[in-house]
Amino acid sequence: MPQSLRLIRSFLLLSSTAVATVVLATFVSYHLHTERLTEEILLQQARALFDEVIVIRQWVSEHGGVYVKVKPGIDPNPFLTTIPGLKVNITDQEGQLYTLRNPGLVVSGISRLAEKKGDFRLHVASLKPLNAKNNSPDAFERQALLAFEQGARESYATEKTASGEIYRYMAPLYFRQECNNCHRSQGYREGDIRGGISVTIPMDFVNARLMENRRFTILAALLVVALLAGFLAFLSTRYISRMQEAQAQLVAMATLDSLTGLLNRRTVYERLEGEIAKHRRFKTPLSCLLLDIDHFKAINDSHGHLAGDAVLTAIAENLKNHSRRYDIISRYGGEEFLIILPGTDLAAAMTVAEKLRQHIADLRTSFAGATLQVTVSIGAAELINGKEEADDLVGRADRALYQAKGSGRNQVVTTAA
Ligand code: GH3
Ligand code: MG
Ligand code: MG
Repeated sequence: MPQSLRLIRSFLLLSSTAVATVVLATFVSYHLHTERLTEEILLQQARALFDEVIVIRQWVSEHGGVYVKVKPGIDPNPFLTTIPGLKVNITDQEGQLYTLRNPGLVVSGISRLAEKKGDFRLHVASLKPLNAKNNSPDAFERQALLAFEQGARESYATEKTASGEIYRYMAPLYFRQECNNCHRSQGYREGDIRGGISVTIPMDFVNARLMENRRFTILAALLVVALLAGFLAFLSTRYISRMQEAQAQLVAMATLDSLTGLLNRRTVYERLEGEIAKHRRFKTPLSCLLLDIDHFKAINDSHGHLAGDAVLTAIAENLKNHSRRYDIISRYGGEEFLIILPGTDLAAAMTVAEKLRQHIADLRTSFAGATLQVTVSIGAAELINGKEEADDLVGRADRALYQAKGSGRNQVVTTAA
């Protein structure tokens, strides 16, 4: 492959790799961005849930708790009964028993409902829980609570559990005056952190959507890269094949005669020099024939230049058809043909020349209603071993041709070395 094509091919390879890398990088960063965005949305959702719960707690707390009907599953809270001054259980005129629900119990009630629906879970936890069974922190909550004591205002993480991935969020609960109703014994002051509420959101749904998105992104990226690579490959193959065609055309233009398609003078000389080198190496005979059309000018004069061209083309074809595969046929000049006969001594060359002369004499070329017939004179020469160069050999063939012309044309002549 020529240097220029190799350059184009490596340029295309490099540029398509670069484009593919950019496309893939875009898709990967889009995907990472989506993941970040999803986590941000989860964080916002958790914050909103936390804020809502805080508002509910505050309302319950401001009203000193709420009374709910006692029924199966709604039992009086034994912790509250230990707090002096609280009316934990009351009865209405009809004898229906009501029990007090403090903010903590209201939150766990909401959490139970939400959990049943599979939405989220709320958990009140403290490092110093009044109710150790319900409000002890788990590992994430403990870490978060310790961080709050160091000044952190929220904490969040994703966790893998046996039932799937979950999003965890926690923010602190600050001690307020109303909290003293139940928490006086713990000795908190206004503004102290007395625990926190954690929000847990299952991520199954989000993860399923993320996976869907990931699949789509990978598919889209692969499709774009494949399309791009295909397009570049198509373009480059087309470009390269056109370049090759153009180069082949240039080579043909430089080496072949445009009218007859035979080798041109420069190229046949190169080939002749090559054959002479081979002859010197292998000692095989080498001969050449120089053909010149007789009275060709008359054809041009009486039938026109195009008729002359038609005759030249027909003779070229005839020479090709009646030569061996390794004979080298060329258009040497205007109406002159040089034929190199490798592996052929003078006697055989004379036979070949005579055969070609006869074929051409028998050839009829039709042109614009006229039938044209010409003869050729041929000079033949065999290379003299070790002595002659290309010019010497062709020169002797030319002198023989001159003699053939002088002796009446339409004949084959050779000269003595
Ligand atoms: P001779 O038998 O002595 O060779 O006579 P001739 O007429 O063939 O020789 P001459 O050298 O006087 O004329 C050669 C002619 O060949 C003159 C030129 O116009 C014609 N010729 C050369 N090249 C071409 C060509 O490509 N096309 C055509 N049509 N004619 C050409
Ligand atoms: Mg001539
Ligand atoms: Mg001539």
